[in-house]
Amino acid sequence: MIQNIEPHEFHNDWSPRRPSGDDIVFGYDRRNAILRSDQTFFRWKDLGSAHEYVYLFSIDDTAFFLTEIPVMDQAISLNINFTRTYEPRWLGYACAVGWHLYSWMRINRYCGACGHQMMMDGKERALRCPHCGNLIYPRINPAVIVGILNPDNQLLITQYAIRHGEYRHDALVAGYCEIGEDIEDCVRREVREETGLSVGNLRYYKSQPWPFSESLLFGFFCDQEGGELIKLDRRELKSAVWKNPDDSFDVPGNASLTAEMIQMFRDGKVKFGG
Ligand SMILES: [Zn+2]
Repeated sequence: MIQNIEPHEFHNDWSPRRPSGDDIVFGYDRRNAILRSDQTFFRWKDLGSAHEYVYLFSIDDTAFFLTEIPVMDQAISLNINFTRTYEPRWLGYACAVGWHLYSWMRINRYCGACGHQMMMDGKERALRCPHCGNLIYPRINPAVIVGILNPDNQLLITQYAIRHGEYRHDALVAGYCEIGEDIEDCVRREVREETGLSVGNLRYYKSQPWPFSESLLFGFFCDQEGGELIKLDRRELKSAVWKNPDDSFDVPGNASLTAEMIQMFRDGKVKFGG
């Protein structure tokens, strides 16, 4: 999965430092990242001390910073989705997490309580209002990915409706946690709302940070206990079909928890009643 960058180590503890030399600098514009025209990342030495830099995190001994990269001949702009397949993977993942932090800062430039300009807090990774003390932490939306198995040991494969961005491949039922519910309630509600099925025997599988939707995904497998696939929510899903392990699947790459969960099914490692 995209966050598995071994042997590299991701350090997200808040220990800001000054940029220098080969430290990597990310710049973004909405959902695009700004790279050098050869599709490598800018280093501090490329841009120098004339810019303002915000410390983001470190991987091994390399520190990453955010700045506004000026328009220049040597720069290109790529949709942030490029990071899902970028090599080396650890730098692609860093750029995706950097975008998550950029997005958080971009929409919190002013205090929602009093309207003052926000600034980075000195003690932790947070934005602080110097006027009223309001603290805003990075937004991480909890969400579920659900692999539903039926008594014939088939997996429910969905395709999202058009309004769900550009993802057109095989997917699993997924959705955001709502206020006042635990993560298991979220699984049952999302399945019921999107497909009309009722499920039980929930088995937590793994979690995954997914910067592209600013979320933390919780993967579950579960068993169909009732209902029929006749009540699809067409605003959410274009289709939902039961597939056998040896059917063909359309799952690009191995960056996502969805891809890994579908592969677990194809390898016979998860089964109805398991
Ligand atoms: Zn304020």
